[in-house]
Amino acid sequence: MQIEQLKTDILILGAGGAGLFAALHALRANPDLDITVVSKGLLGKCGCTRMVQGGYNVALNPGDSVERHFMDTIEGGKWLPHQALAWTLVTKAIERVQELENEIGCFFDRNPDGTLHGKAFAGQTFDRTVHKGDLTGIEIINRLMEQVWARPQIRRLEEHRAVALIPAEGGGIAGALLIDVRSGAYRFVAAQAVLLATGGGPTMYRYHTPSGDKSMDGLAMALRLGLPLRDMEMVQFHPTGLLAGPDTRMTGTVLEEGLRGAGGHLLNGAMLRFMGDYDPKLERATRDVVSRAIYAEMRAGRTTRNGGVYIKMGHLGPAKVAKEFKGMVDRCRDCGFDLAGGLVEVVPTAHYFMGGVICEVDTTTECAGLFVAGEDASGMHGANRLGGNGVANSTVFGGIAGDEMPRWVAANPGFRKPVRAAIDGEMARAEHPFSVRPGDLSVLREKLLDTMWDDVGVVRDRAGIERGLAGLDRIEAELLATGVSDEDRRFNLTWHDWLNLRSLVEISRVIALAALKRENARGAHFRADIPEPGDLGTSTFTVARQAPDGIEIGERPVQFTHVRPGQTLIRDAIAAE
Ligand SMILES: Cc1cc2nc3c(=O)[nH]c(=O)nc-3n(C[C@H](O)[C@H](O)[C@H](O)COP(=O)(O)OP(=O)(O)OC[C@H]3O[C@@H](n4cnc5c(N)ncnc54)[C@H](O)[C@@H]3O)c2cc1C
Repeated sequence: MQIEQLKTDILILGAGGAGLFAALHALRANPDLDITVVSKGLLGKCGCTRMVQGGYNVALNPGDSVERHFMDTIEGGKWLPHQALAWTLVTKAIERVQELENEIGCFFDRNPDGTLHGKAFAGQTFDRTVHKGDLTGIEIINRLMEQVWARPQIRRLEEHRAVALIPAEGGGIAGALLIDVRSGAYRFVAAQAVLLATGGGPTMYRYHTPSGDKSMDGLAMALRLGLPLRDMEMVQFHPTGLLAGPDTRMTGTVLEEGLRGAGGHLLNGAMLRFMGDYDPKLERATRDVVSRAIYAEMRAGRTTRNGGVYIKMGHLGPAKVAKEFKGMVDRCRDCGFDLAGGLVEVVPTAHYFMGGVICEVDTTTECAGLFVAGEDASGMHGANRLGGNGVANSTVFGGIAGDEMPRWVAANPGFRKPVRAAIDGEMARAEHPFSVRPGDLSVLREKLLDTMWDDVGVVRDRAGIERGLAGLDRIEAELLATGVSDEDRRFNLTWHDWLNLRSLVEISRVIALAALKRENARGAHFRADIPEPGDLGTSTFTVARQAPDGIEIGERPVQFTHVRPGQTLIRDAIAAE
């Protein structure tokens, strides 16, 4: 099998907020470097940064503080976040939002006095979510895309899929193996530094929100490279995915958090507002709590026609709702629902992945020359990501990666020789579906969606997780026995669907094993058989790693470097004590 060779100083895998910020920062840091951005989809049209609705958390208001944002992040994350990463997130978010406005060209909504408007988001003690209406991501990604287009020095490999991170002889990273989706050709790109920013994407659940190009490829590649992955049991379910029936891909897409923040009510099938039975914060409780409450109503059979619950906004005034949530109202109308004045059916939907590659504050990983940022990285959010901290995370750490990689290249110059056996092995793996008889992948996808939703989903227990693991073994065996036609490799999307499924099954197994390992209930991970959070002061996080005979899951203690459970950094709270 032929393989084309390319060389670039800095290789960026992924073109979301993390990848594009990294490219712009790296070029600014050293305009002489050759930078290449790879994306599975088209630039500006793929990934989830474009899909950001609600907005971007940043402590800009004088009544707010980075300490308050930090404490919300730590407490929302149930004391599992890596505190130095969380601190970097909240402090650098200020700089990054100013950069987005003043250098990248974003316009965010403003108050009458000209300051940036912050909307209410659940689980936060201050209205700090900066936004552009309710379609903030389009503003951010379009402006970033224009900035990248305006710099021809940044080479773009669009519709290119990364299939493997290739190690160097003697250690460190040598580059990445790609498939050009348009031609079907393999390309090895040698690089001095590589950024992994493919954006996670828990699309292995029956209901899910992320874009279709996301299938956990980055984490599967990192796992196979031997990197440690943290918090892999932590899948965030957004409580209000649209439930528009089984035959539309609109089902599962998210209705933004601001709806609950603004005062939206959730009603069960008997038209009763039920959140009071679960949490005193009602609909403004964190995502995990609201998702479990909805799931409990579903399990108890108190559901709507399609098996979910309702969100109701009309009591806030239909005209106001239509003005403030235009994007959401339009989306619901397209599916035949009246969000402004009527009822819309919703269901919890897999939204975000808190787990990922272990990294340092400067985005370095255990593998020399490999950096990670955005949803592929872990530790910033712990057991629960606050709405609005996702895009802050990808832009903050993408920018940091872009600052750091040129420094790293200057200190460690030169291309490293790739391990040839790794390239050959990864190509053989990608070629596998052409060696067996073609079959129906959609049946396998349906099985995967149900297995993860039923057995490793919103509420888990040992028996269910073990059932899920056995199901995953069967699905993987069936996948390996199901082939793809080799008539034409150009835009062979069935091949890419097969590869997507392979990544999803691989990472689903790690999620299930980590869920088995965590014997307590923290944030997004809820064990019905062990529903207690455990002692916060001795909190641990899970670490998964590929070993020769399977996945090993270990535990490490959380380091309370900035604040310990029971303490706070909020000055007014300290003064009031
Ligand atoms: C519907 C929705 C609404 C959201 N709303 C909010 C919100 O209001 N506030 C908030 O903070 N967060 C929100 N989020 C989360 C937020 O979008 C993400 O946290 C963030 O954008 C992730 O950025 P990223 O750069 O890591 O990944 P992405 O923006 O997802 O980009 C990933 C990139 O990697 C590419 N890629 C994937 N696999 C490969 C591969 N194998 N090879 C090459 N390229 C690959 C993709 O094509 C894409 O270019 C929302 C998410 C969704 C789905």
